[in-house]
Amino acid sequence: MEPFVYQNMGGLPLFSLDSWQKEFPHLVVGFSARNDKEDWNACNYALHVGGNPERVIHNRKRLANELGMSFASWTCGEQVHGVHIEIVHSSQRGKGCDTRETAFQDTDGLLTGESDVLLTSYYADCVPLYFYSPDLDWIGVAHAGWKGTVGKIGVRMVEKLLELGADLNHIRVAIGPSIGACCYEVDERVIHPLQEALKTKELPSELAKPNPNGKWQLNLKQANAAILRRIGINPRHILISSWCTSCSTDHFYSHRRDQGKTGRMVAWIGKKERGSS
Ligand SMILES: [Zn+2]
Repeated sequence: MEPFVYQNMGGLPLFSLDSWQKEFPHLVVGFSARNDKEDWNACNYALHVGGNPERVIHNRKRLANELGMSFASWTCGEQVHGVHIEIVHSSQRGKGCDTRETAFQDTDGLLTGESDVLLTSYYADCVPLYFYSPDLDWIGVAHAGWKGTVGKIGVRMVEKLLELGADLNHIRVAIGPSIGACCYEVDERVIHPLQEALKTKELPSELAKPNPNGKWQLNLKQANAAILRRIGINPRHILISSWCTSCSTDHFYSHRRDQGKTGRMVAWIGKKERGSS
């Protein structure tokens, strides 16, 4: 069953990770969608893509409000397809909420144990990875394009949680909407480091299939799942979205499909203050 459930929340199109929100009611977890009746600024959440910045701030405020979180809790990094992770302390909440300058620089992964910190990252095809350690009550989000995937940013996120005392057997991972194998052709530049990351020359067909162009159709979501299973994450604790951001033109922006000039969806995870609803 698809874990990311589409809904229209007060006029805002979005996907929520319902099963986590049901099991852990203090969490808000989801991924934004676009409105295909409006231009790409209408549901763009990122400040780096040349859209109208006032509209981005407006969109962020509106979404935070719908989620029952404050705009002051909206926290983000400047993503660079790297593997650097920041641990967000309560004094750092809100970094990057209204300007790129104050965001965590060169940062593709965010973790926190604090409540009322909305961790966010931005997407148009890359893979959003969500993390939750129930025993620590820590949350995280990481941006994994192919570079972050083969750089094993997911493993680094888990390692940070383990250093903090999390139990590997309990760590939850969700892999959100992103470009599917249907639309994602790659060459050896991507396949070779992926083979190294998985320590095998024989990539399973659900991960990468040769295509008639002499290249491969890559399932980047399954690649992240395989890398996380290799380090011992319970396969039953990994939820994988089947949404393809490139096929589903009515719901998503796509960097490949839209040839660069487009908006960004936001992935978020936050903990509400206990007692609030
Ligand atoms: Zn597709």
